[in-house]
Amino acid sequence: MKTALILQAAKEIQLTILANEASLESLDRAIGDGDHYINMKRGAQAIVAMQDELAPLSAALALNKIGLKLLSTLGGASGPLLASFFISMGKQWASAESPHLSAVALAFDAGVQAIMQRGKAGLGEKTMLDVLIPVAQQFKLLAEQGATAQLICAALIETAELGLQSTLTLIATKGRAAGLGERAIGHLDPGAKSCQLMITAVCQLLLPAEKPSN
Ligand code: ADP
Ligand code: MG
Repeated sequence: MKTALILQAAKEIQLTILANEASLESLDRAIGDGDHYINMKRGAQAIVAMQDELAPLSAALALNKIGLKLLSTLGGASGPLLASFFISMGKQWASAESPHLSAVALAFDAGVQAIMQRGKAGLGEKTMLDVLIPVAQQFKLLAEQGATAQLICAALIETAELGLQSTLTLIATKGRAAGLGERAIGHLDPGAKSCQLMITAVCQLLLPAEKPSN
């Protein structure tokens, strides 16, 4: 994993967050307090603005700096959770023995574990983890099997979408929506939506561009 790729991914993440303002806003208005889009937009902007500072750093250090920046700029419940994702991912990456995809998968998994610990949450609680946990598991499995980056990206886009859709029928047991009981049913979780968007954007960046038809 190269720092240049992380910076490119940050730009793609910013674009997808901006392009999905309406849905992120309305989901958090339905089962939260409506600030999730603003939080994510502020975080993405802050990271993209760090490009010059991050470019000369190793990937591990860049991930650490991204996490620290998110800790100081991102509000809400999702801020410290996403910050801990990047800090832990950077820490795991620093100790990676190989630069291969399986090491990226392990780093991603370490980030997800940190969110679980910090938020004291697991699968099926109608949070971002309903996207992140299955994606981390699928990523590790496919990387261990030696799957190509292309196959992994395509699979993770699908896994993220399935995870997001799984939140529709769940009752929330963590976060603001936990107070809503059955009223949360029928709404997707906003944090799950932003994670699905971010994962899809990064995977699409890594998939080779489709060839023009003629
Ligand atoms: P807030 O809820 O403080 O307004 P945001 O609106 O930015 O913060 O983020 C809400 C999202 O945070 C939720 O949709 C959910 O995905 C995620 N979230 C909240 N609590 C937790 C938790 N304990 N573990 C994992 N994710 C959580
Ligand atoms: Mg909110």
